[in-house]
Amino acid sequence: MMAGKLFGTTGVRKVYGTEFDLSMALGLGKALGTYLGEGTVVVARDVRTTGPMIEDALSAGILSTGVNVVKAGMIPTPTLAFITKQRRYNTGLMVTASHNPPEYTGVKFWGPNSMGYTPDMENEIERIYSEKTFQVAKWNNLGEEQSIDNAVEEHIASILERIDSKKIESREYNIIVDPGNGAGSVLTPYLMRRLACKVISINSQPDGYFPGRASEPDEESLTDLIKVVKDTGADLGIAHDGDADRVVFVTERGEVIRGDRTIALLAREELKRSKEKTIVTTVDSSKVLDETVEEAGGNAVRTPVGDIQVAIKMSETGAAFGGEAAGVFIFSEFHHAPEPFLAACKILELMASTGQTFGDLISEIPAYPLRKAKMNCSNSKKGAVMAILTESLPKVMEDTVEVITVDGIGISLKDGWVLVRPSGTEPIIRITCEASTEKQVEKILTEAKAEMERAIGGF
Ligand code: MG
Repeated sequence: MMAGKLFGTTGVRKVYGTEFDLSMALGLGKALGTYLGEGTVVVARDVRTTGPMIEDALSAGILSTGVNVVKAGMIPTPTLAFITKQRRYNTGLMVTASHNPPEYTGVKFWGPNSMGYTPDMENEIERIYSEKTFQVAKWNNLGEEQSIDNAVEEHIASILERIDSKKIESREYNIIVDPGNGAGSVLTPYLMRRLACKVISINSQPDGYFPGRASEPDEESLTDLIKVVKDTGADLGIAHDGDADRVVFVTERGEVIRGDRTIALLAREELKRSKEKTIVTTVDSSKVLDETVEEAGGNAVRTPVGDIQVAIKMSETGAAFGGEAAGVFIFSEFHHAPEPFLAACKILELMASTGQTFGDLISEIPAYPLRKAKMNCSNSKKGAVMAILTESLPKVMEDTVEVITVDGIGISLKDGWVLVRPSGTEPIIRITCEASTEKQVEKILTEAKAEMERAIGGF
C-alpha cells in the first residue's frame, strides 16, 4: 500500500485496492473518533461499489472509540452536510470520490456548521491516523449505531421553504434530469416533481459502474442530455456529478452553461436583495463574473480551487453567495456546503418571475472563450515542475501583467489570463486560459502548453 499523505485538496480521494483499503478506512474512523472524543458522527455514501464496506469500516473505527454513528445511507453529499447541521451531529462523513472514475473512493469530512473540515482539521486527523494514538473504548462503553432514512425528504422540505414554489409550479416546466447514475438520482427528480415540473430522467439508476456517462458533467459527457433537451423541447437540463455536489445546467437550446456564468447570473439576483456585497469564487472563474458582480454593485473575491476554500472565505467575509466554475453554488444563509438543488430552484424561480427562458437569461452574461487542457505528470514530479514553471512561465508568456499564486500559478495578461495548477487527486497538471477572442485564447494555450512540456520533459 502506498504510504504518504491521506488528504488531498478536499478530504481523502484514492484508487481503491492500490492506494486505499479497508484497514485505512478503519484507521481513519478511529482517528476521527479520537479527534472528536465524544458525540455522534453521521455517515453516508454515494453510489460507488466500494461505498457500503468503506462506510462499515469507518463506522467500526468510530464506534471503537466510544463515539456514536448514525448511518444515513446513499444520499448526495450536500444532503449529508445539510443533515449534519440540521440535526446537530458533531461531524458528517461522506464516503465519496466525487466526479472521479469508478475505481476511486474517498472520504469527505463536514463540521457541525455544515462547513467542510479545514486543512488544519484534516492535518490533525492525519497526525492521529499516522501516530495511531487512538482512543480505545471498553466493551461496555462503545459507541452506539443508529440509522435514519429520511435525510433526503428533510433536505427537500428545507429547500422548498427557501423559494417561491407557487410561482414555479404555475409554469409547469419540462425538465430533463441527468444525475449520471450518481447520488443525485435520489433527490433531484423528486424535487422537480414537487415543483409541478414534468420530469424526464436519464442515467438515473444509482450505479457505481457509472454506465451512462463519465461522472464529471461537461459538454463532452452531456451529449445525451443535450439531445433529450432539444428533442423534447424541454425548458432546462440539470446534470450532476457522482455525489451531486455539483450541478451543470443546459439551456432549452442545448447549450451547456459554464458554472461561472451561472454564478454570475445568480449573484446578480443575490446582490439585488442582500446587504452583503461580496461574492466569493475560485481562481479559475471567468472574468465575466467580476464584471457582472461589479456592475451589480458588488465585489468578487478569489480563493484557491475547492468548495471548502470558497466556504471558508465566505464565512470570513460574510458573503451571502459564492461558488466554483465547476458547478458549485453555496448559499451561506442555508448551509456552508455546495447546494446544487437550491441553485436549480433559484434558476426556475428567476425564469418564472421574469417569464424568460434560461437561455435568454444567461445570454445576458457574455461567454468569453475559455480553453482547458491537462497534461500527465506523476505526483512525485509535480512539486519540481511547478517550481520551474513559477519561474519560467511569467517570462515566456507575452504581456504578463501580474502573477497570482493564491493557488497554482495564475498569470493575468493584457488580454486574458492563464492558470496552471496540479490536480490534488490525479497525476495531472491542469491549464485553464481565457481571453476576449478565440485567436488570443488559442495563442495563450499554445504558449503555456509548450512551456509545460519543456518543464515536464526535463525530468
Ligand atoms: Mg462532487
